[in-house]
Amino acid sequence: MNSLMMKQPLLVSSILEHAQRHHGEQEVVSCRTEGDIHRYSFRELAVRARKMAQALARLGADPGTRVGTLAWNGYRHLELYYAASGSGAVLHTLNPRLHPDQLEWIVSDAEDQVIFFDLTFLPLIQELAPRLPQVRHFVLMSDSSHLPDAPGGILAYEDLIDNESGDYQWPLFDEDTPSSLCYTSGTTGNPKGVLYSHRSTVLHSMAVGLPDSMGVSARDSVMPVVPMFHVNAWGLPYTACMVGAKIVFPGAALDGQSLYDLVEAEQVTISASVPTVWQGQLQYTESRGLRFTSLERAVIGGAACPPAMLRQLEETYGVTVIHGWGMTETSPFGTASVLKGRHLGADDEERYAKQDKQGRCVFGIDLKIVDDGGNEIAWDGASSGHLMVRGHWVLSHYFHKEDQDPLVDGWFPTGDIATIDSDGFMQITDRSKDVIKSGGEWISSIDLENIAMSHPDVALAACVGVFHPKWDERPLLVAVREPGATVSAAEVLASFDGQVAKWWVPDDVVFVDSIPLGSTGKIVKAPLREQFRDHLIA
Ligand code: ADP
Repeated sequence: MNSLMMKQPLLVSSILEHAQRHHGEQEVVSCRTEGDIHRYSFRELAVRARKMAQALARLGADPGTRVGTLAWNGYRHLELYYAASGSGAVLHTLNPRLHPDQLEWIVSDAEDQVIFFDLTFLPLIQELAPRLPQVRHFVLMSDSSHLPDAPGGILAYEDLIDNESGDYQWPLFDEDTPSSLCYTSGTTGNPKGVLYSHRSTVLHSMAVGLPDSMGVSARDSVMPVVPMFHVNAWGLPYTACMVGAKIVFPGAALDGQSLYDLVEAEQVTISASVPTVWQGQLQYTESRGLRFTSLERAVIGGAACPPAMLRQLEETYGVTVIHGWGMTETSPFGTASVLKGRHLGADDEERYAKQDKQGRCVFGIDLKIVDDGGNEIAWDGASSGHLMVRGHWVLSHYFHKEDQDPLVDGWFPTGDIATIDSDGFMQITDRSKDVIKSGGEWISSIDLENIAMSHPDVALAACVGVFHPKWDERPLLVAVREPGATVSAAEVLASFDGQVAKWWVPDDVVFVDSIPLGSTGKIVKAPLREQFRDHLIA
């Protein structure tokens, strides 16, 4: 027997239709690569997205065609999110911070046929274009006045829009149709494509908005600082339209001052980015004694939020931190460290201990931790194991690797090592490839980094396992001092006293001018392991 309910497919275009009908006056504000601030309404967004869908059809982007973007966070990128997916094509966001060789590999693997790019990336496109014979059209996301003198076939976005009427109906199709494609950042080998569906995207976007997730509403002004090429800006470009929140796009200017000024000017209430970007913002506000007048929630994820940052945001700025965990393979939203009712009466220390964790699942995601033999480990908050995930927006196969099953008994192995406590709060202790194994026992590099970064003179810290003749591996702390600080290795090591077991304390601290960050702003440890491999025996 079938139910007697309407069968409406969960389509990305339905998010935009809702935004237009029910929040048509809401604003999208963008810092443009042209150098100015652009603002318009959801109503105008919807019209231009339909025009772009018509333009895509004219360019031959039939259903299933991969449409690449190489762009910052801005309104044209948002239009493409809806125009490409909504028309049945597949939006493929490219990470411009990758090496050109890697971009070439990804574009070829994805078989992108059209690539849209921001002005900033014109030189990169001019370098790459001859190596990408299958790309039929390159489109500069600006007007024709910004085209190079010899455009060499490059089209202008605004010309494409101007040529269309906007008289377009979003097509209806199966909700399992692919909507977008993202490649993992490749920190763990060759990048792998994750092909999201309309269904998974809509469900994920709803989950992101829930009160115990990022809690986004029509009263919010949302600033996704996390790039739209980093796992769809964690779903916020969809969620904001779904709930009618104002959207503020920072464009290419991700420095502390630009972000601060934008938060204040647009009265941003929720901002989301990786810890290293938050750090830049907080260094700026600290150095000038500034405070936020509107910011209520800071979403921090992609890498562990240092406890010192969490406390600083909450105590100095009155901003609630939502610490989240996820991966490209999970669309990315997996967990958020939002308290339960029973924690509300807890003292600060107990409350922070919960918020420091990566958090608990919303409906739609399930987690478990297992030992090396695949046996489930107890949720006692102390025993750690391999983190496994499953859910409505978790991948089943990698793109172009459909013959390989990445799942184990229907669960995706995340490559993270974690504990889960009796409240369901998960805490990442390491990535399995970063874990430090000393005398056969695991040491959490994240714990050690968090302690080091709570020292006021330490700006950034990475802990890696380096060779030791007796223990195989010992932790070495690589640290960047705050500007002007002269803190010594012994002083940093003293901050571990009483915080961890003695055998966890790093064997040494080396100070460096900078620590390598990957294409999504996360610390990359492999070069540090390589550089300092023999540090303890030298
Ligand atoms: P890549 O796996 O290529 O780095 P992703 O952006 O998909 O690309 O990264 C997912 C990984 O990032 C997770 O598996 C986890 O190791 C790490 N991560 C994400 N959020 C957090 C967090 N809040 N704390 C610690 N690690 C995190």
